[in-house]
Amino acid sequence: MTVRAYIGLGSNLDAPDAQLRCALQALDRVESTRLVASSALYGSDSLLAGQPRYTNAVAALDTGLEPLALLDALQKIENDQGRVRKERWGPRTLDLDLLLFGDRVIDVPRLKVPHYHLHARPFVLYPLAELVDADFVLADGRRLAQLLQDCPFVGLERL
Ligand code: ATP
Ligand code: CA
Ligand code: CA
Repeated sequence: MTVRAYIGLGSNLDAPDAQLRCALQALDRVESTRLVASSALYGSDSLLAGQPRYTNAVAALDTGLEPLALLDALQKIENDQGRVRKERWGPRTLDLDLLLFGDRVIDVPRLKVPHYHLHARPFVLYPLAELVDADFVLADGRRLAQLLQDCPFVGLERL
C-alpha cells in the first residue's frame, strides 16, 4: 500500500534551479517511492531580508515508507546536495519539507505534518495547487482553496 505525500522543495544557493531538478530525480530514487508529479518552478522572495531569492517547487510522491523513514530520506538528499546547517532559516542549497502525508496528522518532535507554516507560504500553496484538485482538503480539515484565498500571490513568480 502506498501513500501520496507532498514535498516542498527550496533552494537559494549554488544554482537553485539545478538543485531542484537534481532533488526531483533523487526523490524518484528513494526506496519504495515514486515521483508522481512536480509543479513548475517558482521564484520567491526570501522570508529573511538580505538573502538571495529562492527557487521553490512542490512534488507529489507515492511512497511505501513510514513518515519518519521518508523524513530520513529527505534529510539524506539535503545532505548529499551539500546542505550545511548553521543558523535557522539561513541560505541553503536544498530544503525538503514534508508538507502532507496522505490523511495523516503527525505531531512528534522531529515531524509535524501538515507542515506547521504551510498556510502562510505562497511558495508552498500555489505550487501545491497545481498538483491537486480544486476541492482538495488537508488531513486536518482545512480546504486548500480557502488557504489560497487567505494567502495572496505576493513576492512569487512562476518560472
Ligand atoms: P521551516 O521548518 O520553518 O520551513 P527549515 O525548513 O529551514 O524551517 P530545517 O532546519 O530544515 O527548518 O528543519 C528543522 C527541523 O524541522 C528538522 O530537523 C525536522 O526534524 C523538523 N521538522 C518538523 N516537521 C517537519 C516537516 N514536516 N518536514 C521537514 N522537517 C520537519
Ligand atoms: Ca522549510
Ligand atoms: Ca526543512
